[in-house]
Amino acid sequence: MDSLLTYAAPGDAPLMQRVPVLLPMLLDTTFDYLVDDDVDAAPGTFVRVPFGPQERIGIVWDRRIDTSSKPVDEAKMKALIRAHDVPPLPEISMRFAEWVARYTLTPLGMVVRLMMSANAAFEYQRPRMGVRLIGPPPPRLTPGRERAIAAATDGNIRPKASLARDADVSTAVIDGLVKSGTFVQSEMPDAGFPFPDAEHAIPEFAEQQDQAAETLRSAIRGKNFSVSLLDGITGSGKTEVYFEAAAECLRQGRQVLIMLPEIALTGQFVARFEKRFGCRPLEWHSAISQGERGRIWKAVASGEAQAIIGARSSLFLPFHDLGCIIVDEEHENAFKQEDRVTYQARDMAVVRGHLGKASVVLASATPSIESQVNARDGKYRHIRLTERYSDAELPEITAIDMRKDPAPRGRWLSPVLVDAITETSRKGQQSLLFLNRRGYAPLTLCKSCGHRIDCPQCSAYLVEHRFRGRLTCHHCGFNTPLPRTCPKCGDQDSMIPCGPGVERVAEEVRDIWPDARLAILSSDLTPGMSEMRDILAAITAGEADIIIGTQIVAKGHHFPHLATVGVVDGDLGLGQADPRAAERTFQLLAQVTGRAGRTGTEGRGLIQTHLPEHPVMQATISGDRELFLEREILQRQVAVYPPYGRLAALIVSAKMKPAAEDYARLVARSAPPATSIMVLGPVEAPLAIIRGRHRFRILIKAPREIDLQAYLRGWLDNIPPAKGDLRLQVDVDPYSFL
Ligand code: ADP
Ligand code: ZN
Repeated sequence: MDSLLTYAAPGDAPLMQRVPVLLPMLLDTTFDYLVDDDVDAAPGTFVRVPFGPQERIGIVWDRRIDTSSKPVDEAKMKALIRAHDVPPLPEISMRFAEWVARYTLTPLGMVVRLMMSANAAFEYQRPRMGVRLIGPPPPRLTPGRERAIAAATDGNIRPKASLARDADVSTAVIDGLVKSGTFVQSEMPDAGFPFPDAEHAIPEFAEQQDQAAETLRSAIRGKNFSVSLLDGITGSGKTEVYFEAAAECLRQGRQVLIMLPEIALTGQFVARFEKRFGCRPLEWHSAISQGERGRIWKAVASGEAQAIIGARSSLFLPFHDLGCIIVDEEHENAFKQEDRVTYQARDMAVVRGHLGKASVVLASATPSIESQVNARDGKYRHIRLTERYSDAELPEITAIDMRKDPAPRGRWLSPVLVDAITETSRKGQQSLLFLNRRGYAPLTLCKSCGHRIDCPQCSAYLVEHRFRGRLTCHHCGFNTPLPRTCPKCGDQDSMIPCGPGVERVAEEVRDIWPDARLAILSSDLTPGMSEMRDILAAITAGEADIIIGTQIVAKGHHFPHLATVGVVDGDLGLGQADPRAAERTFQLLAQVTGRAGRTGTEGRGLIQTHLPEHPVMQATISGDRELFLEREILQRQVAVYPPYGRLAALIVSAKMKPAAEDYARLVARSAPPATSIMVLGPVEAPLAIIRGRHRFRILIKAPREIDLQAYLRGWLDNIPPAKGDLRLQVDVDPYSFL
């Protein structure tokens, strides 16, 4: 490799190094650049290079990657501009990027782009300025000025905005005091990064928890790759237990990453982390500001940041020495990223752990079938927690047969559920109503002509959002005011909502229990992260009587006052043509009912269903997970579905339907023959049109011992490229079949 990288220029020109640089673009090649001898461009260095008419930031890779065999013309080779003053990309991150690229069939440049998603890390950061009290008060002292001075008497430097907030004045007041010489502007000291203390507050463990914690600690002490499935019922204290794995890892001076499926969860989580480790963890998700992202990215790369909690993208941070990866709620589909680089973060966490000799902990009360099979096969260590912490019991689950106890006309709650909630409220406890559907009504229809309002750019009905007074498409975001007259027949006031969404259930709740304090949790009703956190905190504090929510409420929250959970439509999701439909419904029902009765109060779950005899419903009611698992495993074996078979999807789309269809046919026809691999389709996608693009799907099914990626590569390398507005998307291990 060295001989490749050093290039002796002819004549007596100085010796120049030549290095391959990978750019964060849709490319699978490195480009060679010349480096002056005095520039340190070791592998992993982030460098600025000329690229066409532009400058780009790239990474010096440690090998040359080239899909074209064209020799590089030395004379045309450009020199790199400079090295960035940021820590280099660790070698493990390079191997990880290559692995993910190969597995997901994504150009390496796009994976590397995920690793560099912190622009601020590469830019000059203006020092943050603050103000500090130095001089005497000005002669004209308004009450506002007085408050501002009082708030700053300790002489510390504060950001102007936060001082203004503390003193309840406008920033103009602060500016005035700077002018008068009372305050001075100065650079904020770098706050540095908090250091989590592994010994800060170790809880007293129940016996089962203690054993589980010790098993995890000894895995960490082994400093080797391992995967543990922490499989504990809701409320068994999985968080407390895996914190001990994190603590042991911190004792070793290695970094910890805790991945959560939903950033709405991080509020409560941060508080729990702080209680255990004495400081807040660093957060990495879409709601973190650009500047903060840059700061955290660098600190993760240098090793200064010890513990990160984050969404799936945090797995691509350039960890200096990652010793432990915890994936909480590992069964959640939110770990699958669908756009651009499609990857399953839980699976990639296992790969990352393997490359970096880290312990991986997958935690869930309803582990994915994939993980349960791996545990059965002995690939994963299986740690079980079968009891709730302290004297809390699992809630009692019953089905409400909607055929026998239907809701009144135009209503959605059965009298049985209404009585249960009334009783719960009488005891001063909380109830939660769960419906996995945003908005007011999923369909709006004309009672005169039967016309249904659908999206002009997708094959989907528009959902009424009454709170905002609009009809919205949940696939493309298109929205329009609710029409008074039918767009088709022109009848006045003939449009009627069909079916319930959370807003409609909320309306019914207000009607039945006018005095109840409601909390509605739906991503579209809460403007931002902090509002979401406020609502969650209010629920935790017992400031709501009835909670109504979409799937955000199902995930991992700990609501101490919650006694009754009602599932408005337990059958939703069962009808989908998706190999994981049963699994997903089972998990969702177990998770959402599992929010009830977590602190000693007796909890119960009531599921409204038209199919009480359905195996998923039966397993949920009896709590017999093993029975469900046996059945599900058998079905997957027979159908050669994951984890017994491997799937990939090819999705072809174009503005014009014939173009999409023709190309999809051509792609399918080009599939290399292979006896054990099935190529199904193309068929029009269930969601046939999204954003005006017609979609066709091809599904590839293979036994699990087949190298599906090699097959796909051999196939896709030999088809004519998608030209014009045609697009071909590859989804390895698909989770969505729409
Ligand atoms: P899970 O994630 O398994 O559903 P949690 O980790 O949220 O459960 O624990 C449920 C509740 O019990 C939390 O409030 C947690 O703080 C508490 N808890 C669990 N184990 C302990 C323990 N050993 N000491 C004190 N509190 C605990
Ligand atoms: Zn649409």
